[in-house]
Amino acid sequence: MSPDDYDRLYAEARERPAFSNGTEGYGWMAANCDRCIHDKSARQGNDAQGCPLVLITLMGRTPAQFLDGPRDEEGRYGIADQYVCTEFRSEDDPDPEPRPIPTPPGQGELWPREPFEGRRMLTPLEPAAEGVTPC
Ligand code: SF4
Repeated sequence: MSPDDYDRLYAEARERPAFSNGTEGYGWMAANCDRCIHDKSARQGNDAQGCPLVLITLMGRTPAQFLDGPRDEEGRYGIADQYVCTEFRSEDDPDPEPRPIPTPPGQGELWPREPFEGRRMLTPLEPAAEGVTPC
């Protein structure tokens, strides 16, 4: 992911604000983005090379890379873990680029794995539509 991916990331983002107010937004970013390699350039004064997901949240959308963090039985969450960002990489990680788990030696593959690598989004099931006749 790079700042050049902004248009694609914006298009796949959800059309609702990620945070309900500035306290939530800046609190979450302080706990996550402030130690992430993707926003390191912005922290060093080069905003144009900052994380495109941060910019998308400032534009009032919720990036698809933001998965809901833990909630209690009342649906409450902590500001620092309201979301888990799937693109987070610690700037202290000596090799921050994610790597797919390699195929074990001798393991046969039925299909090439490249088209199936990537982000998995778990979405709730759609409620059954009324008036639909089963096949
Ligand atoms: S990748 Fe996620 S955690 Fe990292 S700076 Fe961007 S929004 Fe923040």
